[in-house]
Amino acid sequence: MRSTPPDPGDQAGRLGPAGGQAAGPPARAGLPQSSRILIVEDEPALLRALQINLRARGYDVATARAGRKALTEAVRRPPDAILLDLGLPDLDGTEVIREFRSWSAAPVIVLSGRASSSDKIGALDAGADDYVTKPFNMEELLARLRAALRRDEGAGPIAPVILGRWMIDRAAGTVTRRDDQAGPAAPADPADPADPADPADPADPLQTPHLTPTEWRLLEVLLQHPGQLVSASRLVAKLWRPQPERSTHYLRFHMASLRRKLEDDPARPRHLLTEPGMGYRYQP
Ligand code: CA
Repeated sequence: MRSTPPDPGDQAGRLGPAGGQAAGPPARAGLPQSSRILIVEDEPALLRALQINLRARGYDVATARAGRKALTEAVRRPPDAILLDLGLPDLDGTEVIREFRSWSAAPVIVLSGRASSSDKIGALDAGADDYVTKPFNMEELLARLRAALRRDEGAGPIAPVILGRWMIDRAAGTVTRRDDQAGPAAPADPADPADPADPADPADPLQTPHLTPTEWRLLEVLLQHPGQLVSASRLVAKLWRPQPERSTHYLRFHMASLRRKLEDDPARPRHLLTEPGMGYRYQP
């Protein structure tokens, strides 16, 4: 997905790319063929290694060696993903994430020499999507980047998901009981309409749950990251951008509501899990 950056001010003809850019004249005229990745790293050797590896895979690469420069660059040419060192000469990487998150939901993968879990929590809480500790394996980082970009685009067919006793068809926007389905997980008839019956008693375990639009969006984001932690601030950025303070409370409220509707035992959820102080996780 594309995000709208804050107005960089005068955007007259000095957006000309520094390097030799192959494709058509103004980069913002249309979607670039390849994903644009912004690498933010003050260590020259590592920056160069990342740049070479990403370019070799066909990514459109931009670089910055400091936090403010990175934010300016991100506004000027919004990236599809950011690889971000936490220890920067001017700003703390966490501040960069927070600022970027105020207007973009594009994935941020943190590269850091810091291994403490409080740094990790801080980065995830600020809105990072993934975290790699230096020294890292380049192939692993590239795999994580591909996964982050795929998730963000929501590319590929959206297969129905089983959650406890429910079959969730994101394409059709329906929740149906698994027992109602002919056969196993195969979407034999995904057009099966939701139970039109009166949704009077939400506590009735036999009742097909009706999800609100917010609950659908929340569920959708979680389902896109099976088994993975999704930070609360990332969810907030996805759901209520720009983020007011109270959104974290809204998030908790909507998660509780989702659990009441979808979990067999909402007090002891098995699929929609809370990671205290960090975020939420959909456990298949
Ligand atoms: Ca550094």
